[in-house]
Amino acid sequence: MIDRPSPNFDERRAAIDMLVLHYTGMANAADALARLCDPAERVSAHYLVDEDGTVYRLIGEDSRAWHAGLAYWRGARDINSLSIGIELANPGHDWGYRDFPAAQMAALELLARDIVARHAIAPARVLGHSDVAPQRKTDPGELFDWARLARAGIGLWPAPGTAPLDAPTFEPSARAPEVAEAQRCLAKIGYEIAETGTLDDMTAAVLRAFQRRFRQSRIDGALDPETVARLGEVEAAFARGSAKAPTSSHGRY
Ligand SMILES: [Zn+2]
Repeated sequence: MIDRPSPNFDERRAAIDMLVLHYTGMANAADALARLCDPAERVSAHYLVDEDGTVYRLIGEDSRAWHAGLAYWRGARDINSLSIGIELANPGHDWGYRDFPAAQMAALELLARDIVARHAIAPARVLGHSDVAPQRKTDPGELFDWARLARAGIGLWPAPGTAPLDAPTFEPSARAPEVAEAQRCLAKIGYEIAETGTLDDMTAAVLRAFQRRFRQSRIDGALDPETVARLGEVEAAFARGSAKAPTSSHGRY
């Protein structure tokens, strides 16, 4: 762990109970570190994990880093006060999105497992930036291996069911009950959504965020049968996984 202190922080206004994962979306870790430490940028995260597994500590966990921005989860908006933020070096969707290397994932797994254990962060409170800001953000994205983290006891990855990808997609206007049910599910999981009963722009954005996280093979914001089935699985898993984790357990989900 390399200390690389950033001046971009202030005081927490709530206790830590959430872990938020990001990608840097920059060409390399050096550029990302420079930006996260630049007072003019007013952005930061507690840690940055480079692709080779090097971990940089930028902000002490007791302080409020500035990584989530305008965000929401389960009624909370000051996600920065509630969370620890980890940046993963990756060029991201704008600059050549690519796999997160094994060394980076191994280092993240060690770091995140330690954080989750020390702060008793519930599995349902380990989130991606796109979960808490679905209309603005796409990180860490559909190449991120949430299943691997869940196997290590970090976050949730309910086993996917078997609904076929090529079954007909619901017609949004003709199938308002299905859209309303999907919105209810998304709200219950924690996403910010208006329960309008129509597949509006906000709903499509939240569905894309949901797919990026839980149905990574196709990110289109459509309410296809596999997405509907996945919504049910994830809602059930989040209901079970919202309890505060015991400080030493892992691998329960
Ligand atoms: Zn981010």
